[in-house]
Amino acid sequence: MCLESNVNNMEILKNYINGKWVESKEQNTIDVLNPANQEVLAKVPFGENTVNDANAAVAASSVALNEWRNAPAMRRVQPLYKLKQLLEENIDDIARLITLECGKSFAESKAEIQRGIENVETACATPTLMQSEFSENVAPGIDEFMIRQPIGVCACISPFNFPGMIPFWFLPYAIACGNSFILKPSEKVPLTMIKVFELIDQLDIPKGLINLVHGGKESVDALLDHPDVKAISFVGSTTIARYIYQRGAANGKRVQAQGGAKNPVIIMPDADIEMTARIIADSVYGCAGQRCLAASNIITVADDKGLVKEALVEAAKSKTTGFGLNEGIEMGPVITPESKSRIEYLIGKGVNEGANLLLDGRNATISGYETGNFIKPTILENVPLDGELIKTEIFGPVMSLLQMDSIDQAIDFVNGNNYGNMACLFTSSGLNARTFRNRAHAGNIGINIGVAAPMAQFPFSGWGDSFFGDLHGQGRHAIEFFTQTKVVIERWPKEWTRKF
Ligand code: NAD
Repeated sequence: MCLESNVNNMEILKNYINGKWVESKEQNTIDVLNPANQEVLAKVPFGENTVNDANAAVAASSVALNEWRNAPAMRRVQPLYKLKQLLEENIDDIARLITLECGKSFAESKAEIQRGIENVETACATPTLMQSEFSENVAPGIDEFMIRQPIGVCACISPFNFPGMIPFWFLPYAIACGNSFILKPSEKVPLTMIKVFELIDQLDIPKGLINLVHGGKESVDALLDHPDVKAISFVGSTTIARYIYQRGAANGKRVQAQGGAKNPVIIMPDADIEMTARIIADSVYGCAGQRCLAASNIITVADDKGLVKEALVEAAKSKTTGFGLNEGIEMGPVITPESKSRIEYLIGKGVNEGANLLLDGRNATISGYETGNFIKPTILENVPLDGELIKTEIFGPVMSLLQMDSIDQAIDFVNGNNYGNMACLFTSSGLNARTFRNRAHAGNIGINIGVAAPMAQFPFSGWGDSFFGDLHGQGRHAIEFFTQTKVVIERWPKEWTRKF
């Protein structure tokens, strides 16, 4: 047993299928590691036989669907009220697991679960959000209306960086709309959802309505290819998002696939320097930079005599790095040793390309956690605009500082980005703000905000290579994604009406 949790490190994690915890058909496993010290937390099934697990989950989901799809919407949201209560009662335990397997600080882990809970709350409004349109007399004696019906078995494939939040961008809406659901969490962080599914097990829902299967490419491909799976929700890197979108769509499924990012932030000379620096440092270094909404390329407009740079370096230096369950820690490790090497390589690459290293977080060691994947806050300036560092998603605690002459030049730079997850502007001018929000090519815009994460009522609106599909996660988009519309045109001629 490891020190900080009840997780048994020799345990091979089970799937949750048809309302029961069942062993995987796959004998091969990979280790789930604590990124702060490489401690083995558990073993997760990983290999080609996970296909059988995925197929068993689809079979259970298909049966559960028959009963659930015609349950009144008011009935379908009752388990979500209970789930909200259970998540709140267990928030500390879930947050501890997130920190253990994912590395972020305990406060960040709790905030993550809170965001998940807000999606459960928003999905409780489904009976109203699903309501439809009715037009009387579209032609003489003819009425027309549209109803929303569930689409069937829905599957979600989630990434490592928000193990407790991202499944909730989809799960509560899918269920409330009358669908059944299969989750395939990231093999790097499966423990958080094991805990959540222990809570789901307590809900009054048909067996097989919500299922959990482990694995990697094999189980994902099985879900992408299974004819009974009607919709796929994916969040992860752009390469895999594009693949999921193409394969799912080729198989006739509805797909929403959220991808990676490279988020620019513009600082105008009229911005409040101290507040701006603090907010931007939180955005770049929060979750060790492993957020799809992490600021990465920071552009100062016009000569500010180096004041912004100075404030950013101070804010970055003030971050305390270490094991996320320890008191006062603000930044944890990155997810794997490979991730650490990749990030350190990219920093070196930036230097080779001509950038000046203002703060070097490489080779960080944390006392007591010498084997952890730690990188401390890093800042590079004068990064060449055509270099790799400017274009590549680093997914680590690294800031690239750029200088431009005007807001127009900065917006042109923002719009040259292949991604389009987030773009932010710091200013005290309403005109600058308006110009920026109108012209910036990104789906989530922040004005004096460092992490423009849409609340649950709004769609998580990535553009470009950050999103493949039409309808995003969360809010009304989720209701539309998880339902199909049916339009009915009715005529009841007088002469056909029997007289009794
Ligand atoms: P990833 O793409 O490596 O993995 C995501 C999921 O896909 C995992 O469940 C994994 O098992 C599965 N997978 C991996 N390779 C696969 C393959 N070849 N075929 C089928 N399935 C496969 O992503 P990650 O490293 O877990 O997460 C980090 C990435 O996610 C970053 O790029 C980040 O920007 C992105 N992300 C995006 C958003 C968003 O809202 N746009 C949110 C969070 C994270």
